[in-house]
Amino acid sequence: MTQSSRSLHSDRRIFGRAQQDHILDPYQVQHKPTEPTVCSGCGAVYHRGRWHWGPAPQDAARGHCPACRRTADALPAGIVKLHGEIALARKDQIVGLARNEEKVEKSEHPLNRIMAINTVEDGIEIFTTDIHLPRRLGEAVKRAFHGELDLHFDQAGYFVRVDWHPAG
Ligand SMILES: [Zn+2]
Repeated sequence: MTQSSRSLHSDRRIFGRAQQDHILDPYQVQHKPTEPTVCSGCGAVYHRGRWHWGPAPQDAARGHCPACRRTADALPAGIVKLHGEIALARKDQIVGLARNEEKVEKSEHPLNRIMAINTVEDGIEIFTTDIHLPRRLGEAVKRAFHGELDLHFDQAGYFVRVDWHPAG
């Protein structure tokens, strides 16, 4: 019986953060590290089934956390696209804003991070390692610059896309 996991996924519906938490990151599911493990990339520690910040126990195994593996694979779980001339003109401010939001999110959730920030032809793209940070980034930009936010969750997979457009 190989169909059971697929039909489970198709029944999922998403309304908010609590529901999103039921969507499992394949990077976390496929690979359960031994406990304790310390990430060679970022220093996060896997203990009691979760990744934390903190000192690594002396006997900790070495490995890579899901966020560092995603970053190495250049496979984002979230994309925030900030559209328009204003995004390009105010890039330094927007990047500062995004980094501040990331810092707060990451202190509580070590796997929620910005992977990359790229300037593209018509705006800025921010790639994240998780599906929660994009919404937070989009809302911070909207608070600072107003405009419109669109959120799209991929209900079958672990992926979210947020688009911000400046007001008319
Ligand atoms: Zn790591």
